[in-house]
Amino acid sequence: MRLDHIGIAVNSIEEALKTYQSGLGFSLADIVTIDHQKVRVAVMPLGEYSLELLEPTDPLSPIRKFLDKRGEGIHHLCFQVRNLAEKLQQLEGTSVQVLDAVPCRGLENRKVAFLHPKSTHGVLIEFVEEKQ
Ligand code: ZN
Repeated sequence: MRLDHIGIAVNSIEEALKTYQSGLGFSLADIVTIDHQKVRVAVMPLGEYSLELLEPTDPLSPIRKFLDKRGEGIHHLCFQVRNLAEKLQQLEGTSVQVLDAVPCRGLENRKVAFLHPKSTHGVLIEFVEEKQ
């Protein structure tokens, strides 16, 4: 298991890029909308990892709820696992609560699942399956 990306909730990707791209010098690889997650994502590669700026596309977006409650900032950490179904199975019966019992599809159509932050000491954790 290794870090895949860090997700940062922002009100506006364009505004945030002024800081991260123009200011801090990160390079922008792509901006993608994931309709079913109601989010627009700006991907900034960092070697093996990446930073993702997450902007809500809908008032019902989980990112909108996060911004309303906590403001901009680190939203989640994502770790890469070899076999997501197996990983989720390992967590059954533990105190860790899986939010997506059936993995959903994230960027590049990769399988992802989130864990409830209340069960992971306040950190929203995402698992993504390694590229096959
Ligand atoms: Zn993510």
